[in-house]
Amino acid sequence: MMAALSLVVPAFDESGRLPRTLASIAAALPRLAASKVELIVVDDGSADATAELAERFAATSPLPVRVVRLGRNRGKGAAVAAGVAVARHPLVAFTDADSPYDLGSLVPMLAAVASGRCDVAIGARDLPGSQVNRGYGALRYLSGQTFSLMTWLALGLPFRDSQCGLKAFRADAARRLFAMRTVDGFGFDFELLATAVANGLRVERFPVRLTHDDDSRVALVRDSLRMTRDLLQVRRNLKRGAYAFPALPADPTPCPLCGVAEFEPRVAHDGFRMVECSSCGVWYLNPMPTRAALAGLYGDAYYASDDAIDGGYADYAAMADDHRDTFRRRLALVARHVGEGRLLDVGAGYGYLADAAAATFRERWVVELSPAAARRVSPAHRVVVGDIESVELPRGYFDVVSLQDCFEHLPDPGAALARIHDVLRPGGALLAVTPNAHSWLARVQRERWVSLKFPEHVILYSRDTLRRVLESNGFAVESMTPAGQYARLDFLAERVAKGHPQLAQALTRAVRRWGGGERRIYVPSGSVAVVATARA
Ligand SMILES: [Zn+2]
Repeated sequence: MMAALSLVVPAFDESGRLPRTLASIAAALPRLAASKVELIVVDDGSADATAELAERFAATSPLPVRVVRLGRNRGKGAAVAAGVAVARHPLVAFTDADSPYDLGSLVPMLAAVASGRCDVAIGARDLPGSQVNRGYGALRYLSGQTFSLMTWLALGLPFRDSQCGLKAFRADAARRLFAMRTVDGFGFDFELLATAVANGLRVERFPVRLTHDDDSRVALVRDSLRMTRDLLQVRRNLKRGAYAFPALPADPTPCPLCGVAEFEPRVAHDGFRMVECSSCGVWYLNPMPTRAALAGLYGDAYYASDDAIDGGYADYAAMADDHRDTFRRRLALVARHVGEGRLLDVGAGYGYLADAAAATFRERWVVELSPAAARRVSPAHRVVVGDIESVELPRGYFDVVSLQDCFEHLPDPGAALARIHDVLRPGGALLAVTPNAHSWLARVQRERWVSLKFPEHVILYSRDTLRRVLESNGFAVESMTPAGQYARLDFLAERVAKGHPQLAQALTRAVRRWGGGERRIYVPSGSVAVVATARA
């Protein structure tokens, strides 16, 4: 007997034929020669009685059957992923709910995976041994063939048929593959295979036997458009190296805000993956880099780096006046909290916010992790080098604590906020400016959004999650407003063309030639400015 198998069956609005197909799948399972079998039916947010029928089947079936319900219709990729996530056995396979494949085809696939000959076994309808009914419409057949060719051309996959709905995996390989998934719909098949190939997994093809027409749930035109869009997205991700597995097979990190371990992948590049917490909605790096790895980022090179578009700042000092003007404008938000005139700026860089605050705050302290940056801070301010959670500071002392483009760097926001609460006087104010993952800029720029700086930006907030983390750590939110920054046009040109070096150069040159390089404008940056007071 072979190892135990978890068979995942995604189902969407299948109430018409589900009882019949589940019965036929259940009848076929004992013949698969697995030592134990569990059936996992995932209801993909069906509007009909699919979930109830699956649960009724589970209640009466002699086999272990589990039903997973997705709250809304997400697509086949998301449904299969939800099933893989709860699979208990060392072999995982999935098939379609309308059961077009003779499950006997799975026997050699499972044997190959169980023996270690391959990591992923895929059905291939183009293999000579496959029995495929071509009678289901010339147009559908032709579009399938065209799409196979496009997939091959766009992704360089060495398989003609990426979309066959019968696939088997070693469970750990399946979990790692699905962890990198960004496509919810039918395109998840080719994304999965592209990820497998990119990480050197062994993929083997097997003939399949169709019992009746497949692809019956694919709407020809609408789904073709969506799959073409997904194909381009996967191609971009592949080019960026987005599908590289994390170096160490780390356990998933639970949400740093609410502690829940369920999440959805959002963006991945350079071996880092940002996910959205399924419970509170905050975006965070998962797995979260270690503190040692993060501390190593902020050396001398951070503030004057050649690679400044992706990490650190191009020439931070050259933009000093822009920064001071930006900070002056942001400080106006806490004008009524000046009190005794004591300010603390955390993650201060070269101390430009303290410079801008000199007119209104008679005492300015700065905390900065990078010793190199701290040396550049004006002697007019008091400088403390280190981590906000561990440096020595007077308690109940400050009227205002500022976090400018800093909060998103902190892996444990609860601990940092507790410390900030501790050094503020009762009623003192926190002024934080941080990227807003729900801003229009984030939505428009998507994976090119400038704030997707990994691994420096470890958590990205929205107004909701920011309010949540502040209120659960002893703060009362007073205001939230979109934040902007002053910037020179040539700097903006560079940012706009992020990821296109030639375009960036051309734009920058053009802006300088027209004499616009020195001109500054105040632009929205996709960030949010929040003022919150420390509750007693
Ligand atoms: Zn959460």
